Amino acid sequence: RIVYVNGEYLPEAEARVSVFDRGFLMADGVYEVTSVLDGKLVDFAGHTQRLARSLAELGIENPMGAEEWLAVHRELVARNALTEGMVYLQVTRGNPGDRDFAFPDPAVTKPTVVLFTQSKPGLADNPAAKAGMKVISIPDIRWGRRDIKTVQLLYPSMGKMMAKAAGVDDAWLVEDGFVTEGTSNNVYIVKGGRIVTRPLSNDILHGITRAALLRYAAEAQLTVEERPFTVDEAKAADEAFFTSASAFVMPVVEIDGAKVGTGAPGPVATRLREIYLDESRKAAV
Ligand code: PLP
Repeated sequence: RIVYVNGEYLPEAEARVSVFDRGFLMADGVYEVTSVLDGKLVDFAGHTQRLARSLAELGIENPMGAEEWLAVHRELVARNALTEGMVYLQVTRGNPGDRDFAFPDPAVTKPTVVLFTQSKPGLADNPAAKAGMKVISIPDIRWGRRDIKTVQLLYPSMGKMMAKAAGVDDAWLVEDGFVTEGTSNNVYIVKGGRIVTRPLSNDILHGITRAALLRYAAEAQLTVEERPFTVDEAKAADEAFFTSASAFVMPVVEIDGAKVGTGAPGPVATRLREIYLDESRKAAV
């Protein structure tokens, strides 16, 4: 595999990052994941816009403009002959040479930029979307700036392991009685034809797939209510699903052992997955 590190395209075994990099020592960095379908980038503009916002919130200089980001993504996709999968992009605050809690002077320390691809045949034609996924609920004990897409992913990883240990696919995070989001996705329920999802705030990541889904739902004349919902409400819903750049729209058929609706993927989630895949393939760059 060819990866990108600070301006160079290198075989992965030759790629190097400093042990003093603040991404490594302090999780001081942000990332994006963009799906690739038919060799093209899905929702690309949204991902570069959110990257710019995450960097600005942390006071890390954005090393590239939108056009340059696109060029690097395309070059990496081409060099790896990637047709279906994802591009992972990470920008950290860089390597100040010494470990210190205070941020280094941005005039001296440049951000570290790493990109790599992961091939995932069957991303779009995913059997899990036909079966639906099972989730458990767990407490959301993450920090208060979940709107920034940082590489600090320890609790979401622990959540995935709790799900695995329970024999299910993912965990939904719960704070003050309400579901915030999944370990790596935004969550929705459908009741009486209305789609319910938590409104944007610092409590959740502002999903790029979420934004696209809400646009497509409006175009399809589906009603969306942006308000928090509880786990009990989700269990009693007609349908549940989640969205993310790598799962697109994924039906959820079981929460904490209770069947949602009929226990099979519902019509709204199934239709939205089709619309999302059709539209995002058309809009891919
Ligand atoms: N919420 C969290 C915590 C995530 O990690 C992610 C994606 O990684 C999402 C939501 C979905 O965001 P997107 O649709 O931009 O992939």
